[in-house]
Amino acid sequence: MKYYPLLFQLEARRCLIVGGGRVALRRSKTLLSAGAQVDVIALAIDAELRRVLLESGGELIEQPYSDALVTREYFCIIAATDSTAVNQQVADYARANNIPVNRADDRSLCDFIFPAVIDRGPITVAISNSGGSPVLSRILKRQLNSFLPEGYGELSDFARRQRARVKQALPAERDRVEFWEHVLQGAIAEAIFSGNSLQAQTLFDQALAEPDQFRRTGEVYLIGAGPGDPDLMTLRAFRLLQQSDVVLYDRLVSPAIMDLVPAHAERVYVGKRRAEHAVQQTDINQLLVDHALRGKRVTRLKGGDPFIFGRGGEEIEKLAAAQVPFQVVPGITAANGCSAYAGIPLTHRDYAQSVQFVTGQLKDGSIDLNWPELISEDKTLVFYMGLSSLPVICESLRAHGMADDMTCALVEKGTTRQQRVVISTLALLPQRLQQLEVSSPSLFIVGRVVQLADKLSWYSTDRADSPDDSFGDSGA
Ligand code: SAH
Repeated sequence: MKYYPLLFQLEARRCLIVGGGRVALRRSKTLLSAGAQVDVIALAIDAELRRVLLESGGELIEQPYSDALVTREYFCIIAATDSTAVNQQVADYARANNIPVNRADDRSLCDFIFPAVIDRGPITVAISNSGGSPVLSRILKRQLNSFLPEGYGELSDFARRQRARVKQALPAERDRVEFWEHVLQGAIAEAIFSGNSLQAQTLFDQALAEPDQFRRTGEVYLIGAGPGDPDLMTLRAFRLLQQSDVVLYDRLVSPAIMDLVPAHAERVYVGKRRAEHAVQQTDINQLLVDHALRGKRVTRLKGGDPFIFGRGGEEIEKLAAAQVPFQVVPGITAANGCSAYAGIPLTHRDYAQSVQFVTGQLKDGSIDLNWPELISEDKTLVFYMGLSSLPVICESLRAHGMADDMTCALVEKGTTRQQRVVISTLALLPQRLQQLEVSSPSLFIVGRVVQLADKLSWYSTDRADSPDDSFGDSGA
């Protein structure tokens, strides 16, 4: 049987539960939480149920069920005894009196069923699989719950407060719908989610004063997509990506993550390779501004975290100057992703008390680093770099006093299905890499913590037999 979710106003409605056990308790709690009044007829009544009912002012009739005991008008009846015959008798009574009935013993005989409910303030989501499996509904509920941002309740309250004004200002329904779509998925909603209701109100007032102008105001989301595995994106990143009109991305964003870009969004590749820039940084900054000023919601999708060696700061400076609204969504940086997926804790009480993220990118063939400062037995070093600088890094660390046998790991395409971890020592790794065809992106971890990988590695990949497509070169 199929059920359709109608949302009833239960405030002060009287409902009857026949039965006094755990099911009756659960149902009465549900109904009471919706503001209903609950009476119970049962021979034996669970102690907690008794307490709950007495507190709520419900009537308790402790007698074997008979139709004559039903002396009030009820909005609905729930038959929750452990006797099929009694439940049947209750259902017959309900049907004869046109009262909807729910039978705890047989879903197929119910006029209505109780869905799994996500209750977030004014937002209510009902989940049912038509009585198939309550456990499945609860699993779905948990999954959906984690996708609903906390602030939606507040957003809904905000919208309710403004509805009358909008209706007056925009008499045509089509204009109103378009206006609300912008309000509920743009800078105003984001201001509410960030806890900034004053700013939301100001933006809203401006928008309503000039709705045409408002529809032309875009914004930019600078989103960290994490190191490759799409599961490592944040819920916020995912949500903003779904509402984007344009997505600017580069080589570090894995195809698996690009698969999450909504079909309607325009994709713009602005990838860079060492020395050969597909799009100059200044042009990227300008592109972001241009798209936003055309009223688009623009995502700038970056690998890892946008503020870790990602030039994210430069991109939003320009936006700030042009007064384009923007927000920054942190991502899991390569050091965190790769170390976790390689089983290398970056700090450990026995091996490393600190960790340092370093960029070893060669610009003109040399690396300008304060080497003596990097040398320490108790520190983990993480190098974000082009592969070609790795031999220089190993050599320089040794030249400045780090032990030849200091353990180190190269993590290639970390967190993707193509991840490969090469563990060696400072003295031996450059040579080993000559035999292996390692490609970008790769992260270099140096420190005694690397020894733990042997024991702690957990992530297995299908690297050996799958095509190497985790990161595209052209990105096209
Ligand atoms: N903003 C990014 C880093 C950009 S610098 C972040 O927070 O991760 C680019 C360097 O990051 C690459 O040269 C490489 O050293 C490292 N990197 C990024 N993703 C990686 C991955 N999946 N596996 C290994 N290294 C990665």
